[in-house]
Amino acid sequence: MVFTHDTELGLQAAVTLANSAQEPDTLTGVADLDAVWDEFSYTGRHERTRAELDAVRAIRPQLRALLTADRDRAVELVNDWLRTYDAVPQLARHDQFDWHIHAIDPDGPLDRRILVETAMAMIDVIRADDLTRLGVCADDGCEGVVLDLSRNRSRRFCSTACGNRNAVAAYRARRRDEDRDED
Ligand SMILES: [Zn+2]
Ligand SMILES: [Zn+2]
Repeated sequence: MVFTHDTELGLQAAVTLANSAQEPDTLTGVADLDAVWDEFSYTGRHERTRAELDAVRAIRPQLRALLTADRDRAVELVNDWLRTYDAVPQLARHDQFDWHIHAIDPDGPLDRRILVETAMAMIDVIRADDLTRLGVCADDGCEGVVLDLSRNRSRRFCSTACGNRNAVAAYRARRRDEDRDED
C-alpha cells in the first residue's frame, strides 16, 4: 500500500467519478451511483434521488481539476474546498473499518462529502510530494485520469479497455514491421 487505506479508497473513488464523465458517460442513473457507493464503501447519507445524482455529476469537473492539477494548484483547491465545506477532521471507527478520518458530517449532501474526502486524500499525496501517482491516460484519444498505486509505477492507462486497445495496436504495429522486414 502506497498511502493509507482511506486515502487510497478516496483517490480511487474520485478518479472513478471523474472518469465517468468521459464519453460515454457512465454515471447517468441512480443505480450507477449506487454501484460507486458500494465499490468504494461509502457510508452516511445516501438519498438515491435524481437530485443527489445530479449534484454528484456536477462536481465531476472539479474532481478532475484537482486530480490533474500541479502541486501548488492542488494545494489551493484543497484548502478552498476544506474551508468552503467547513471540514473538521475527526477520527472514526465503524463497520469493518479501523480508525480513519471523517472530515465532514455523514448526514451532509453526498456531493460535498465527496469533495471533502477527495481533498483529504489529496493532502497525503501533496505532503508526500507524490503527484506523479496521478496523470492522464496514455491512450491518444482518451482524457481519462490515471491513478497509479502500483509499487513499480507501471500504470499508464485509465482502464483495462484503454490498456487492451493499445496492446492490440502495439501488436499490429510489430506485425507490420516484421512483414516489412520479410519483404
Ligand atoms: Zn468511515
Ligand atoms: Zn484511457
